Amino acid sequence: MDTTHTEASSGLSTAEVAERIAAGKTNAFTPDSSRSAWNIVRANVFTLFNGIVFACFFVLFLVGRWQDALFGFAAFANAIIGSVQEFRAKAALDRLALLSAPHARVLRAGAEAEIAPGEVVLDDLLVLRAGDQVPADAEVIGARGLQIDESMLTGESDPVDKHPGAEALSGSVVVAGEGSARVTRVGADSYANRFAGEAKRFSLVSSELRSSINRVLKWVSWGIGPISLLVFNAQVMVAGGYATVFTTGAWVQAVVNTIASVTAMIPLGLVLMTSIAFAVGATKLARRQVLVNELPAVEGLARVDMICLDKTGTLTVGEIAFDEAHPLTQEPGAGSDDRSGDWPGDWQGALAWYAASPDANATARSLRAAYPVESARDAAGYIPFSSARKWSAVSFDGTAETWVMGAPEMMFGDAASSASTELGRTVTGLAETGRRTLVLARSGAPLSEADVQAERLPADLTPTAVLTFREQVRPDAAQTLEYFRQQGVGIRIISGDNPRTVAAIAREIGIDVAEGFDARALPEGEAELAEVLEQHTVFGRVTPEQKKRVVTALQSRGHTVAMTGDGVNDALAIKTADIGIAMNSGSPATKAVARLVLLDGQFSHLPDVVAEGRQVIANIERVSMLFLTKTAYATLLAILFGVLVLEFPFLPRQLSITDGLTIGIPAFFLALMPNAARYMPGFLRRSLSFAIPAGIVIALGLTWYTFVAQGIGASADQLRTGATIILAIVGIWVLAVLSRPLNRYKVLVVGAMFVGLLLVFTLPASRAFFALVDPGEELAIALTGITIVMISCIEVVRLFHRRLLATAGAPSGAPAPARAARTPASITGRIATTAVAVLAYTTGFLSTGIGILVLLSRYEGEADERLALSIVGAAIALFGLLTVALAAGLRRGSGLSRLLISVFLGILALLSAVVVASSDQWDWGATATAAGAALLIVLLWTPPVARGFRQIRHSSMTDPPRAG
Ligand SMILES: [Mg+2]
Repeated sequence: MDTTHTEASSGLSTAEVAERIAAGKTNAFTPDSSRSAWNIVRANVFTLFNGIVFACFFVLFLVGRWQDALFGFAAFANAIIGSVQEFRAKAALDRLALLSAPHARVLRAGAEAEIAPGEVVLDDLLVLRAGDQVPADAEVIGARGLQIDESMLTGESDPVDKHPGAEALSGSVVVAGEGSARVTRVGADSYANRFAGEAKRFSLVSSELRSSINRVLKWVSWGIGPISLLVFNAQVMVAGGYATVFTTGAWVQAVVNTIASVTAMIPLGLVLMTSIAFAVGATKLARRQVLVNELPAVEGLARVDMICLDKTGTLTVGEIAFDEAHPLTQEPGAGSDDRSGDWPGDWQGALAWYAASPDANATARSLRAAYPVESARDAAGYIPFSSARKWSAVSFDGTAETWVMGAPEMMFGDAASSASTELGRTVTGLAETGRRTLVLARSGAPLSEADVQAERLPADLTPTAVLTFREQVRPDAAQTLEYFRQQGVGIRIISGDNPRTVAAIAREIGIDVAEGFDARALPEGEAELAEVLEQHTVFGRVTPEQKKRVVTALQSRGHTVAMTGDGVNDALAIKTADIGIAMNSGSPATKAVARLVLLDGQFSHLPDVVAEGRQVIANIERVSMLFLTKTAYATLLAILFGVLVLEFPFLPRQLSITDGLTIGIPAFFLALMPNAARYMPGFLRRSLSFAIPAGIVIALGLTWYTFVAQGIGASADQLRTGATIILAIVGIWVLAVLSRPLNRYKVLVVGAMFVGLLLVFTLPASRAFFALVDPGEELAIALTGITIVMISCIEVVRLFHRRLLATAGAPSGAPAPARAARTPASITGRIATTAVAVLAYTTGFLSTGIGILVLLSRYEGEADERLALSIVGAAIALFGLLTVALAAGLRRGSGLSRLLISVFLGILALLSAVVVASSDQWDWGATATAAGAALLIVLLWTPPVARGFRQIRHSSMTDPPRAG
């Protein structure tokens, strides 16, 4: 019989309850189901970036020039996007938490009452029945077959028997029996909430993108003070010196110029672009049932090289599944039945009856699919299952036999584990594989009334079959983990459950282990622990503290660790991991600290998260080179012009338009492109190794130009126009260089920016607004020469950058290392493709040269022809440049470059033909250009070359870039 403790108490009296409420000893602790509003605001608003921008904004506001403070928009938009997205995630989590709010049942003043869990007070007498969630930590006082599922707290998959004196922890669930318990700890003191409190400490998800950008911002913020003093000094000097500026009020303009030059140093757009890319990623993931709790977490999973998984509730769904029936042969003398060889009686029918019986527990119910009821039978005698007895027995009308199902050791004692019986060997062998076993046995006599009354095990039992059960593994777990293995991600399973059971589940998802490591034998020291973690993959009996230590030990070995779990016992590890992932079925505290929540509990979404993260990282790396190039040249320009006491060569609006068309707008498109490049650490180093040299080229080129322009005696407007033209052309060049390898989409973006700049420089209204004037012939020739030198230098920088990345084993953008592994094209095809590339380069450069000559010829022509000459010249030059840019893709065999080069060559041939036809004298240059272009088009589409294209294109376009 079960221990039945008759408690004299009738619970707390009304007065005692009131007294405890007054003393604050209530369970009214609402753990934040998600991040607090303050955390979200702190992470998104109070940043170094916003601090710098606000300081600049404040100064402009003080001097009454708020119209110039539009850059603050970027900071504002950034804070809004981040906060709104994260508040939305918080709201989603809060809604989920509300759905699972349970009730508590207490005995007060002799009467049972159902109250909200928060109203439970210390010393309250809880009434526990199957299905209840324990609202507060309590000591069991009375129990009748009380079984509690503690898997959410400990990871133990089997329900635990609770006898008087045992502890029932808040958050655990009563699965069988009933009982009463006295509350010992409430609210924040309770077991589950202690972890919630620890896990609530504020911490930001680790994000390489964000920390790298923050590092740049820190450098800029250090430099900004001295550099702005330097620039301010130069601006005052240019405006007439300190003696006069404060009397004439010219100091205001000096301040505005200074702020314009220093805000150009801050990569405002990069911070904003990163936020937008994260937010777009999070929105896409939400559609796939993945809740992103913190925006930069989008990036996290793509960087992970070690994934730790909890077992119970994470790899398994927490339900028991029937595995197999292992029939036993009749052992001589073991029973009274002489039909040896046959399986006696209708044992399947007995199993079907157990499965269908109304009081079937989860284990019996799992038999329903395998053993459907074929003919309904009535029980003549029935002893129901009890968790203390661990067996149940039934005999049917019209048969003289009894079927008993239960735990082998409770029914057969030592024979159930003895190697000398078939039953013992079968049960031991099956248990070693981590499966739970039950035995079905038969007795030749029906249950008597006395048997039922005494709950007595029938005599002469013959074991008929051993039934095995296992935990139900999530159907997509094995496939998803295989994906991670292929991506070179290490897998560790850390569970609170029995190591043998954990190993069995691990085998089921394709991890080949003989046995799990018992975490009670894990070493204390971090280095030793890390060593053990390198050698073993499956761990059982891991405590919540140890789960956290496993994560930190792996991190100490340089791993980026993801932790996936559901229970309170996973919360600390999930918090500590670089990226914590929770199952939606998990505890609210766990979901709150996780960075990602799998809303439908499906692992198969994780590859989507990786893909999304890779896209964000690779694209932000690409656009960061654009933005950081600007930071580099703006910083250097501010220093050079400050030291040399030169007037800044741009109006703020001229800078904004070139920035917008060569950086901001294209970056927006480039940052959201599909990109499956695999993650490589060291994004900032790669970005800066291009951005700094490119920035130096631009800053030095502009300084050189300023001296030349001053030497020529250009007016301030002419000087600024020339500087703007240089910056626009070089900017678009940098954009084209960074967009390689080009595809249809990128050509469209770069092409549109080209056209945009052309319009800015030719439309009368925009020329007036942006104060663009004719620079004059001499300056035009000078700036053309300087631009060509700068562009060549940018190409050299890119060449060295690519070499650097190739030797560092981390190529970026183009699939450079794939070249050797490519399917060799036919020799003719390769020679022909190379020849076409060389010809295309030559034609491109020639066309550019012709375009520039046409452009400069405007100074010889009549006034009314000038505009036409400018447009035609610029167009030819730009087409030439684009041809050169595309020729760079030609050698890689991109079909797109062939198509576009054909189009451009066609236009070139047409333009040359028009020139030949319209000029009075025979133009040999134009004739040669037209003929050359036509020849190239034919070459590009004839078989040897065309074949080369197809073959190369097939291997280079389908390989993901940076797969090295
Ligand atoms: Mg769990």
